[in-house]
Amino acid sequence: AEASSRKPEGQSVRVVVRVRPLTSTDNGGTCSALSINPNGQHVQLSAPHDKRTTRQFSFDAALDQHISQEDMYSTSGVQGLVDAAAQGYHSTIFAYGQTGSGKTFTMEGFKYTMPSGNSGATAAKARAPTADFQNTPQHQLGIIPRAIAALFQALNSDTSRRSVVRCSYVQIYKEQAYDLLNPTSILSAMGPQHHNKQQQHGPGGSSGALRMRWSKAEDFYLENLFKVMASHKLNASSSRSHCLLTLYIDSSPLSSPTEIISSRLTLVDLAGSERGSSIGATSEGKLRDESVAINKSLFTLRQVITCLAAASSQQQGGTTPSSHVPYRDSKLTSLLKNSLGGTSLTLMVACLAPSDAFYEENLSTLEYASKAA
Ligand code: ADP
Ligand code: MG
Repeated sequence: AEASSRKPEGQSVRVVVRVRPLTSTDNGGTCSALSINPNGQHVQLSAPHDKRTTRQFSFDAALDQHISQEDMYSTSGVQGLVDAAAQGYHSTIFAYGQTGSGKTFTMEGFKYTMPSGNSGATAAKARAPTADFQNTPQHQLGIIPRAIAALFQALNSDTSRRSVVRCSYVQIYKEQAYDLLNPTSILSAMGPQHHNKQQQHGPGGSSGALRMRWSKAEDFYLENLFKVMASHKLNASSSRSHCLLTLYIDSSPLSSPTEIISSRLTLVDLAGSERGSSIGATSEGKLRDESVAINKSLFTLRQVITCLAAASSQQQGGTTPSSHVPYRDSKLTSLLKNSLGGTSLTLMVACLAPSDAFYEENLSTLEYASKAA
């Protein structure tokens, strides 16, 4: 059963902007174009060579480069979404922004290291940096580890109910979904050279991609997706793919174990929002192909969130919300169909890099994010 007759507390779509600090990769670039009002809700952006073109954008919160992970968590209202998920509502948190803007830092905050040596590991695994959970300082932890801890705390504090939490971890790359908790699926996602060395017939079929199916009970779902309670140590970092970590919560009163309420908390590190040109896509097939597919999921997500934001402000104004939301147009939005809109809560953290060199990308992120707000 879904908690559809009730309504969770909080805005259905919240949008927060976060500007990361300048890092060594910015090569000391100037940062004169972007500023945040002291009230922490407005961002100004001016063209680096024409200060007359300043534009202002408003958000639920605008966080500058000094904000700690802990304060980012509380100011963004993540706790409200976690509590809603614990109470039976679907909640979804996205990190949006160009590659290098701080999405993964904001969502995960894990320290990544290159594994040393080749012994025992496959070639693919040896090359990929892996999250170093043990050596990541507590204060650097991002939304995902904090939200998971808070979810279990919320569920454990309700002693009148019994809850079971499962999780899945899915990567969407070029409109194909891969199971990051299933080694066969992830290896074939890396390309045929890795796949050939592995067994040919994984749960997702010979391509390794999972088949998306539909059922009355689950809506769109991925066939054979592993849902487990502890994860393998696999790495999913790619600026061109979307990563969805989903926690499935089934909760029932101790007095009535068959009255199950199911909800999901979905935590999404989106692909970089930059256009093809700025990630080096050329007429040479592969990259362009990738950016088209990325743009399809991102493009559709933008449309869906914009529709939902418009509908929720219309509802507040007393008019009927527009009906067609194009969930089915991409894999990402199909999978999130039940988790966006309706009684679900959504938080978008739009990430910005501070350097003037990223004026165009920051403008595009701010324009989109303010439309979603
Ligand atoms: P994205 O996932 O959007 O590509 P990352 O999260 O990988 O970007 O961030 C790019 C770089 O900036 C990384 O080295 C990351 O550690 C650093 N970084 C991002 N945000 C912050 C922050 N708020 N404080 C310190 N370093 C940050
Ligand atoms: Mg990233």
